[in-house]
Amino acid sequence: MKIFVVNCGSSSIKYQLFSMADETSLAKGILERVGTGNATLHHTAAQVGFDKDVDVPDHTAGMKLILETLVDGEAGVIKSVDEIVGVGHRVVHGGEELTRSSLIDEELIAVIRRNADLAPLHNPPNLAGIEAARRAMPNVSHVAVFDTAFLSTLPPKAYRYAVPERWHAEHHVRRYGFHGTSHRYVTLATAKLLGKAPDEVNLITAHLGNGCSMTAVSAGKAVDHSMGMTPLAGLMMGTRSGDIDPAVALYMISRGLSAQEVDEALNKKSGLLGVSGLGNDMRDLLVAADDGNERARLAVDMFVYRIVKYIGAYHAVVPDLDAVVLTGGIGENSRPVRRGICEGLAGLGVVGDEDRNQATIRGKTGPITADDSPLGVWVVPTNEELMIARDAQAIIAGSAV
Ligand code: ADP
Repeated sequence: MKIFVVNCGSSSIKYQLFSMADETSLAKGILERVGTGNATLHHTAAQVGFDKDVDVPDHTAGMKLILETLVDGEAGVIKSVDEIVGVGHRVVHGGEELTRSSLIDEELIAVIRRNADLAPLHNPPNLAGIEAARRAMPNVSHVAVFDTAFLSTLPPKAYRYAVPERWHAEHHVRRYGFHGTSHRYVTLATAKLLGKAPDEVNLITAHLGNGCSMTAVSAGKAVDHSMGMTPLAGLMMGTRSGDIDPAVALYMISRGLSAQEVDEALNKKSGLLGVSGLGNDMRDLLVAADDGNERARLAVDMFVYRIVKYIGAYHAVVPDLDAVVLTGGIGENSRPVRRGICEGLAGLGVVGDEDRNQATIRGKTGPITADDSPLGVWVVPTNEELMIARDAQAIIAGSAV
């Protein structure tokens, strides 16, 4: 059974083809700068990759090109597109209505379109991808997997903001959360590693990539989460501020910035980039900090401090914790950041194990704490695409997810 996974941005299509019998990835890639006149395809199959300049005016042409590449004589991994039995689509915002992965039909498309106000940068390109893929593969089932779905179990006391009730009732202002597919994947994987049933495990999961978020998981369900109505809230990120006093935005407008400039600054010029002035890549900041760059050091210290603070808060919410789980590019690889997190959690009894921390990188799974640490910190690589493929497979087979 082969499942194709699609993640469409406004000018990009990320894709991956899975063979579900053994959950292996047969091919993956990204088509970038769709519609700009100088699109490129980066495609990898059997560990061999290539880059190619291509002529792709829109998502429909892009999808056609990707499918042709999958069946291409030399680089191809399947004989015919008919081998693909289903397609899983990443959709960022399910809003309040779409709380689980679902088969795509006209009605579902209408709801995703309605939710576009909540995710204007993401849902419209996600829909463009759905339409292009349905056109290219009209005879197979297409399934939508929502970033927000795993976080739909938050109780009202966690998802409501203390703002006028009408803002929620009329404008749907509330915490939704994002990265849910990643948090769900590592929750299920960690439950398995710890020998617990998925609905028994209590975790704090931290997705630390360019975007960063944290989820408190009780009995396998999300009960609190750091991102908000938009992905701007919570932890410090590559270019996003995370939590700030909301009055700062209004104050900067009173100092002469437009609302759009403030939005741009908080989303694209803040976080690690804003504080360090150097960039948003944690690797570069760690090198600079070691070389004595004080702004880089401060950016890293703030990043770690915010994570430690959130873990403390979520531990209070989920006292009976089985583990803290780190994932995403930084969580899976950045040894100094992980060491800082373990040291920062000493007050909660965490005892780091530096040998384990050094050894657990590049896709490895395992604890980075000592066996006798009262609270374990684990590194569990995420795989959102596989989670999407699993959901598509289950839904096509008629099971609930
Ligand atoms: P995205 O959220 O875009 O998927 P990733 O999960 O790939 O991003 O994470 C990107 C971040 O991971 C960057 O800050 C990058 O510096 C960091 N990262 C990746 N590999 C390493 C590494 N070996 N050491 C430190 N940081 C790393």
